[in-house]
Amino acid sequence: MKKVAVIGAGTMGNGIAHVFAENGFAVGLIDVNAAQLEKALGTIKKNFDRQIAKGTVTEQQKQQALGNITTYTDTAGGLAGVDLVVEAATENTDLKLKIFTQLDELAPPDAILATNTSSISITKIAAATKRPNKVIGMHFMNPVPVMKLVEIINGYATDKAVTDTIIQLSTTLGKVPCVVNDYPGFIANRILMPMINEAICSLYEGVAGVAEIDTVMKLGMAHPMGPLQLADFIGLDVCLSILRVLQDGFGNPKYAPCPLLVNMVTAGKLGVKSGEGFYTYTAGSKELVVSKNFNNL
Ligand code: NAD
Repeated sequence: MKKVAVIGAGTMGNGIAHVFAENGFAVGLIDVNAAQLEKALGTIKKNFDRQIAKGTVTEQQKQQALGNITTYTDTAGGLAGVDLVVEAATENTDLKLKIFTQLDELAPPDAILATNTSSISITKIAAATKRPNKVIGMHFMNPVPVMKLVEIINGYATDKAVTDTIIQLSTTLGKVPCVVNDYPGFIANRILMPMINEAICSLYEGVAGVAEIDTVMKLGMAHPMGPLQLADFIGLDVCLSILRVLQDGFGNPKYAPCPLLVNMVTAGKLGVKSGEGFYTYTAGSKELVVSKNFNNL
């Protein structure tokens, strides 16, 4: 495998492009939004500078990796000659089905079509193509350059050879692959999202404040960050979409999203990417939000 296309240049897409480029792959980074591509390149440069400061990457390696990335707003252009597509567009089922139908038409017939979806059925996404045996989940964690895990999800029809290729590829990228089956939320989000939702409900019910909830989970459970900060980091819209998939997929009300989460997303408070969620974010700083909607205040 030499050439990869990444669809979507948001939080995850820029990180996925970063690790492929760092490992010598030619990367076509595709987004419908040109401004998002510019922003992604800025983020990738900043993240390489962090690695340089830590001594894990040299300036020359950074320049080589940046030279491996080409950006496109035109999907067809970015797909020419690719061996693999990793789709990391917005977490929306209808959008992903549309994208996969298009990828199936435009990507070379032998290319593997992977999705970074956090929760949407791989089997359903695969059914939107004429090559369901070549469709697989390749679920990177955020931030991609730092996090070691790739959760690999077998759809109902995924060929074993395709799974083996993606396992091998993940190892080449310096990641640790973990193969799971295709049920709502897979493993990572089936376990993580109920915890985040419970943290938001605890805030909503006035059990404790943002700082207290995050401190209990950080210091009490040795988590590197509290669940509310993590939700901001993931994106509150992404958390809400995943909870809806769990709720619909299992038909169990225990996955119903907390009304506070629904309100925050409706109000455009999406966390780090919008500048405010449970905390506010301005150039390198994180502050608590004082909000009448957080019951404990
Ligand atoms: P995001 O909202 O930050 O970025 C999505 C990007 O997709 C946007 O730039 C948007 O312009 C682009 N896009 C939308 N439609 C497109 C199309 N038709 N063609 C090309 N680009 C298109 O989202 P994100 O947080 O990066 O999430 C992307 C995927 O990764 C989702 O499936 C999400 O569930 C998954 N994921 C997210 C996280 C996380 O922590 N945010 C972690 C793991 C997996």
